[in-house]
Amino acid sequence: MASPRVIAIQFDGLRADTLSEERTPNLLAAAERGAWFRNHRSTFPTSTRVCVSSLATGVYPEKHGLPGNSLYSRELGETITTGRYENLLAWERAMGGRLLLRDTFSERLDGGVIISAASSGSAWLWNAGRAARLIHPVAMYPAEGRGKIEEVRKIPAGGEPDLPRCVWALDLALDYVIPKLEPAVLVIHLSEPDNTQHHEGAAGAAHRRALEGVDRLFGAFWERFQAQRDDWPQTNLLLFSDHGVVATAGMIDLEAEMADLPGRGDSWQVAHSEGAALFYAESEKTLQELAAFLRTKDWAGPLFSKDGNGAEGALPGTMSLGLAGCGGPRAPDLLMGFQWGDGFLPGENRKGALPGWGYSSVNNKGSGGTHGSCSPYELRNFMIACGPAFPAGARVDAPTGNIDLAPTILSLMGEETCGLDGETLTETPRAMGEERLYRVESKEFSQTLLRVEADGRFYLNFARLEKA
Ligand SMILES: [Zn+2]
Repeated sequence: MASPRVIAIQFDGLRADTLSEERTPNLLAAAERGAWFRNHRSTFPTSTRVCVSSLATGVYPEKHGLPGNSLYSRELGETITTGRYENLLAWERAMGGRLLLRDTFSERLDGGVIISAASSGSAWLWNAGRAARLIHPVAMYPAEGRGKIEEVRKIPAGGEPDLPRCVWALDLALDYVIPKLEPAVLVIHLSEPDNTQHHEGAAGAAHRRALEGVDRLFGAFWERFQAQRDDWPQTNLLLFSDHGVVATAGMIDLEAEMADLPGRGDSWQVAHSEGAALFYAESEKTLQELAAFLRTKDWAGPLFSKDGNGAEGALPGTMSLGLAGCGGPRAPDLLMGFQWGDGFLPGENRKGALPGWGYSSVNNKGSGGTHGSCSPYELRNFMIACGPAFPAGARVDAPTGNIDLAPTILSLMGEETCGLDGETLTETPRAMGEERLYRVESKEFSQTLLRVEADGRFYLNFARLEKA
């Protein structure tokens, strides 16, 4: 009876700069025992399901094919919200049976267990190829497993904060999944602190309770795991978040804002991804009109379109989707990150508040904090790894990111990692790479994108739109 070779725990939405001795002592103790990747980056759009798809496959959205938390399906002629797994199943059927365009690490390994306390859609995407066993309050795979799971641990109702479901996921791992199912790779997706951040932002007492809560739950989990398992030192523990968060500067009702533009639903469509919006239209003239309209709005940020001439996208004045890893066969025709800024919102500079704000779509699930756009605050997430493959006390300043999780798990399992955008985190030293700034300008605006390029890989720092 062997312990997992890899336990990967996702702390949804945990911003790297919220780690501290005071708030997250258990995560920092893990960093002491292992390697702390200090320059870790999310993928754009910084929305959970897009990020989970990159975490599971090791590639950018242009290759895995999930462009946003919602998307417009030309095959179905409707907008799909990916938060519900039933919607993903319908879309998968419409796409000829392929949900993501690349294999997940579970498919490459042909096994594993995923326990998720987050949305049924994100749970399903972790297991897009159905190669692992999935345990989620709603989306079980295979479905027959539900009775046994409910017998072991009653599933608590979801709530705000969502700590009871995080407790459920971690207890289930220790009491049933690890001893009975004996997975070689176990993924646990915890829905906090993200859930609380959507409502409260990343400041204040509620956020502190959620952040300290998940840290404490992780600490108790690891202690119990060590007490139960004599072979615990062989397990590699990967601790990470999928994206960060910013304070919500305003909730934009895109439908209302754009109601006067002609052709909605007929010649163009929009799909919401929290801090990003995806536009679809057949005609280039319509796309140019949409882009021109958006540029008149304070809440609109960087715009991307199909790859054009170098940094500039096919639509004049936009950037190429490929620069942000967002092109590919399922890309929208026009992608917008909502506008963001540095510093504090008025009234937000209370004790413990974090810099960084951004606009969001009203389709977001709360008004306190948001993510989805391409600010450094949403793109900076965290990664800590400890176990036999990671030297104690290592501090890695070379760039790393969401795309590196799948290759790391594969290499820890002795498998090939070829064809992935990321690279295993066990390889050290990693290249520091070089920062490269891309710019598209006109008399009215300047759009910039900064990324670090290292050994053929890239990691996004930010993309920004500034008006003259
Ligand atoms: Zn998330």
